[in-house]
Amino acid sequence: MKMVTIVGARPQFIKAAAVSRAIVAHNRSHSGRAIREVIVHSGQHHDVNMSEIFFREMEIPAPDHALSIHGLGHGAMTGRMLERIESVLLEERPDLVLVYGDTNTTLAGALAAVKLHLPVAHVEAGLRSFNRMMPEEINRILTDHVATWLLCPTPTAVRHLHDEGLHLRAGMVIRHCGDVMFDTIRHFAPHARDRAAHLRQGVGDGYRLCTLHRAELTDNDERLRQVFDVLLDLASSRPMLMPLHPRTRNALQRIGLNWEGSGLRVIEPVGYLEMIDLLDHAGVVITDSGGLQKEAFFMGKGCVTVRAETEWTELVEIGCNQVTGFDAHTICQAVVAMQDLPVDPSSCDIYGHGDASERILKTLLGE
Ligand code: UDP
Repeated sequence: MKMVTIVGARPQFIKAAAVSRAIVAHNRSHSGRAIREVIVHSGQHHDVNMSEIFFREMEIPAPDHALSIHGLGHGAMTGRMLERIESVLLEERPDLVLVYGDTNTTLAGALAAVKLHLPVAHVEAGLRSFNRMMPEEINRILTDHVATWLLCPTPTAVRHLHDEGLHLRAGMVIRHCGDVMFDTIRHFAPHARDRAAHLRQGVGDGYRLCTLHRAELTDNDERLRQVFDVLLDLASSRPMLMPLHPRTRNALQRIGLNWEGSGLRVIEPVGYLEMIDLLDHAGVVITDSGGLQKEAFFMGKGCVTVRAETEWTELVEIGCNQVTGFDAHTICQAVVAMQDLPVDPSSCDIYGHGDASERILKTLLGE
């Protein structure tokens, strides 16, 4: 079976790493049909520490097609990707096309494939924030509605797809496979020890680890200033480490925010192994990332989600994630409440057992 995998953004490399590894293991086992994977990298994330480092550290096969499309608005980026991915698919003629998550790359890949009558498999199907102002929400809804295989990380995601009536469509396969990010962290955590020791130097354990990058924050100057005022305040009582996404760095430059001399240690985006080590030594995670909310849980840390809502509601229900919105007082209270919270990752198995990638392959092979 020939499969084209389409990736382009950091979280997609991390998810695809698990499935690519499972494909290699499947082919080595000589059981069932062999899978030939062709990787397309759209270029949406292109800096060395937003892209190349993940391919290198996580042993993802080098892209067969690198499209280098980045730095454009949503329409131009998605449009150019659609055109280029269509050419690749016409050349490769795969049996199916695999897309991940909810970026412009996901949507362009799915659209290009279905228009050529190639079936699409969507990893991380069924996630919903119910906030249509988020570009990611539009991307994931449209992708789910054109895909054939909807590979869900949680039972909640399956329910969302049923609520939208997708189970009634002939030929549709909706399956709870578990979360490939859990597969990834289980595989890499033992190799991550002390990988970020140089970044942690001088801050001690129990620091606050913060990543923020969503457009709903970075595109709103007043909100951005308000949130960073709270972060600077929090960083005055306990050190805070912040691997800064390029989009957020640009936005902070735009509003002229200065963190020099504060307890906020801003660093460049880190590789996956460094991130796992940073999580391991943190006292609490403050984020608007989807992936990091779960990784905080997998690494036994409490999480504060600086957004109006989350797709990963289960973690809120079991009390290890608080969603604060953007109000300064609420963020402050949540960080204090979640600091050093004992979190037992084995208390909840909704993300599966680290075998989501194998389950995905079995589903695609019809086994
Ligand atoms: N991540 C990383 N280095 C960083 C920041 C994040 O390796 O400096 C990883 C993080 O551990 C998670 C993924 O990137 O696995 C999340 O990506 P991101 O927050 O960009 O996207 P989202 O999960 O919100 O889609």
